[in-house]
Parts: sequence; structure tokens; C-alpha cells
Amino acid sequence: MPRLSEVIAALENLWPAERAESWDAVGTVVGDPGQEVTRVLFAVDPVRETVDEAVTLGADLLVTHHPLYLRGTTTVAASTFKGRVVHTLIKNDIALHVAHTNADTADPGVSDALAGALDLRVVRPLVPDPTDPDGRRGLGRVCELDHPLTVRDLAARAAERLPATVQGIRVAGDPDALVRTVAVSGGSGDSLFDHVRAASVDAFLTADLRHHPASEFVADRAHSPLALLDAAHWATEWPWCELAAAQLDEISDRHGWDLRVHVSKTVTDPWTAHAASPATTDTSGAPN
Ligand SMILES: [Zn+2]
Repeated sequence: MPRLSEVIAALENLWPAERAESWDAVGTVVGDPGQEVTRVLFAVDPVRETVDEAVTLGADLLVTHHPLYLRGTTTVAASTFKGRVVHTLIKNDIALHVAHTNADTADPGVSDALAGALDLRVVRPLVPDPTDPDGRRGLGRVCELDHPLTVRDLAARAAERLPATVQGIRVAGDPDALVRTVAVSGGSGDSLFDHVRAASVDAFLTADLRHHPASEFVADRAHSPLALLDAAHWATEWPWCELAAAQLDEISDRHGWDLRVHVSKTVTDPWTAHAASPATTDTSGAPN
């Protein structure tokens, strides 16, 4: 059985902490380096639901994409929900390790997993990491489709392949336009519009798109005859958990460790219900 320190060293090798953004909070949040690890759970969010899942599973290590304390804290009192997470982890001898923006820009990283879930062929990073001489690391990915799909069919594929959420996939732009190239970025993507325009792709799949950037983006037909596909933030990052689990499985085999690696099936998307407007089948864009 490996020690926590050995497993963390392997994870740090995949997603070095120094490659995280300066504002980020990655690395080990809770854990005794000398503790043995037999079971690992990967999840997007370090919240009560996934911690409870780790307890039920008998996991010794929970690896999440999102940080627990992004902006630091002065208390881990169990009267706060994050403090309760810390208490539950420590009482159950479960370590917590975070790989966030260092996993976004990794090769392979969060957007490779998103592209893989949709059978998109990754061509290059959308925003290459200037410190990578091979040009393989960076934010987002520019991808090609083996066979062109309409925006409508690409959205249907995303809805089918990504884990189910009440939001599903929102589309901006002509649903009948053909997509041959698409930029993808797991998580919030509306800071990337300039890079998407420069990439001359037919569509952009991401999450958390706001009204004004999206509206201006699709209105600017001269520069971007593009469609936007907006999925739930959690759903765009969840495929990374499967990728990361497979990577740790492979490392475990290579080291002769007997690790059991699991992926959380708990939906931690905060949106829990959706009321569709009546009669939205008119796709002309005109109000009914
Ligand atoms: Zn995220």
C-alpha cells in the first residue's frame, strides 16, 4: 500500500502545483503524509455530498477539481459548511487534494476529457501555455469533428454524452449551421471569446456564458459566424474525473500498488430544477 505522500507525489507529477494560476488554491488541503492509501475518489466539488460518498466508500483520499478554500479562511469550525467538510474528512481519516487550474492546462487536462467525451479530435490548445516548448499544454482545446454535424446535432451529442443536468445544453446561433471545428473549454469560458474568435472555429462549447458577452459574440457575424453551446459547469468538468482516475489507475499498476480508484457519480451541479417555457419550438427566433 502506498503512503499518502507517494500518491500525492504521483498526482503532483501529473498536475504540478506551480502550473496553477497565481490566484488559485491547489494541493493537499487535509491529510497525514504517512497514512496508507487504499481507495481514492475523484469528484468535481469538495462538498458534503461527495465527502459523504467518500466516507461510505471507505476512501482514504478525495481528489477534487475545485478548491475548498479558494480565498483562504480563518476558521474550520464545523458550524460552517466548509468547516463541516474538514471535520468529516479528518474524523474519517480521508485526505483531500485539489488539482484545479493546473489540471485545466495539463496535457491531458480538463478540456481534453471534455473533447474526448464528445469524440472530438483535439488539434491544439485554445490558449497555449507560453512556458510549454511543445505547445501541448494550455487552456481550452481547438478540435475537429470527423464528420461535420449541425449545431443542433452537436448540442444533442453533448446532452447525451455529458452527465445529465437540469440545464441540458443551451444554444446560441443558427441550429442548422454546420460545425467542422469547435473550441471547447471545461468550466467558465466567457473570458476566452477573443481566443475563440482568433481560432476561426465554427462553434464554442463551454459553461457559465453570460448574457452580454454571448449576445455580442453571436451578433458580431462579420467576425464570428459561430454558435455557442453552453452546458452546466459541473457537467463540462466531470469527464476529467474519469480521465484522472484512469491516469492514477495506470500509475498504480506501474508501481505495483493495489489502489482502488473511483469516480463520484453524485451530481453537484447547484441547479436542481428547470421549468421550460411553453411553445419554444419556433426556432425562427420570433416571439410566439
Ligand atoms: Zn470549474
